Amino acid sequence: MSTADLPARGQPGRAESDFAAGRPVVFRNGTVLTMNDSGQVLPDADVLISGERLAAVGTGLAVPDGTAEIDASGGIVMPGMIDTHRHMWQTAMRGYGADWTLTQYFVWYYLNWGKVFRPQDIYAGNLLSAIEAVDAGVTTTVDWSHGLQTVEHADAAVDALEEVPGRFLLAYGNIQQGPWVWSAAPEFRAFVNRRFTSGNDMLGFQMAFDVTGDPEFPERAAFEVARELGAPVTTHAGVWGATNDDGIRLMHENGFMTPATIYVHATTLTADSYHRIAATGGTASVATESEQSAGQGYPPTWKLREHGIGVSLSMDTSVWWSGDLFSAMRATLGADRSREHLEAHGRQETVTHCHLRAEQVVNWATMGGARALGLDGAVGSLEPGKKADVVLIKNDASPVMFPLLNPFGQVAFQAQRADVHTVVVNGRVVKHDHRLIGANLGKARQVVGQTVDYLMAELGPDAWKEGMHPEVPQAKVLANPYTYTEWDAGSARWKSTRKDAGA
Ligand SMILES: [Zn+2]
Repeated sequence: MSTADLPARGQPGRAESDFAAGRPVVFRNGTVLTMNDSGQVLPDADVLISGERLAAVGTGLAVPDGTAEIDASGGIVMPGMIDTHRHMWQTAMRGYGADWTLTQYFVWYYLNWGKVFRPQDIYAGNLLSAIEAVDAGVTTTVDWSHGLQTVEHADAAVDALEEVPGRFLLAYGNIQQGPWVWSAAPEFRAFVNRRFTSGNDMLGFQMAFDVTGDPEFPERAAFEVARELGAPVTTHAGVWGATNDDGIRLMHENGFMTPATIYVHATTLTADSYHRIAATGGTASVATESEQSAGQGYPPTWKLREHGIGVSLSMDTSVWWSGDLFSAMRATLGADRSREHLEAHGRQETVTHCHLRAEQVVNWATMGGARALGLDGAVGSLEPGKKADVVLIKNDASPVMFPLLNPFGQVAFQAQRADVHTVVVNGRVVKHDHRLIGANLGKARQVVGQTVDYLMAELGPDAWKEGMHPEVPQAKVLANPYTYTEWDAGSARWKSTRKDAGA
């Protein structure tokens, strides 16, 4: 056997030839979460894919000759997950800001270092982030791309998205300029016309900018461009210290709140703003992991439920958090229930039945995202005729895959990205048997490495270190009226001591 016959290391081998274009694929004998309107779960069921679409969902399906079979027994087959807000360009700085607050993030990206990112750095972050999304079963991702200082940066962002076999939407933004400036540039228009075609559900377009609450409402011009282009607007709303009710009121009074508008975080808002969002049919993109540690406000699902506002989930940025929606679902369930208990205890009451269920967060991670993006006719559930975005959660080597008693509970609290066995996007198998197909991780590693080297040199060692390790505020241990008992090594005896505050 010559080396030419061997698949290159890290490259697809047997799996790719098994899933040649046009060959139907069937998942056999899985627990199928259809996420259809009646929330149907089918035990020991099959999902048949033909071309780009789901051909059939049911038990003991007859399939065409030559169909590739995937054994889903012991696993869960569910729709691909949807992330409605991810700053993909920031993935090149993965984990760097783990100890940041929102203020430190603003200082690092908005004020100091966001402007040194070159087009190739946007490309690097996007390429890695896109591969990471697909690997974790996130088949549709909104790239909330607010580092697009020039159209060259924007082209680089789209180049990366087009190289990875996932479904993406570019939400165009630029934190270095007011949206009324960049959206008025002729080259911006030309870029949109050049890179996007209407009706392409693999690559969509949005406009991403925040509304400051300035009574002059300078963002009006950008909203008008969005309306003209037919592009939905996605906006960080209700972010403590940054955006508030004034922005929502201005958008509403000027007629720019639509069912396609996405309110990211939507945390520190009053009932009046929630009423305006609910009445105009917009949805909230909740990034619980982000809200819990950065400080935008308490994750708002407990409030959104009261107002009947649609929810989708997002992970925000890998500069802090994980890029999988298992973490988002888990964090969201925890935050919502935590708040429900806390509010009840404040009233001297006990919650005996949780309102938020595991099934609901799985719904938010799938259909919730599809509805927010206006793609619910195409993706978000496993129903014949829809585009085939499918995830198989199955890991025969894991002690956590059985017993499989409550499939929604399994997805929300037990599963993790390593359990994502197979991923299909638009009918194409892009991951099988835990290995990516058609995504070049080696290239992502190389270009991200180049970006990290470049940024380290730009910042210099001191700024680099300082950025990653923000100062820790002084902490004080409270005075304690009780006596501590401690072992005194010198006298080899137990002794009693009192401790003062700060000791
Ligand atoms: Zn964000």
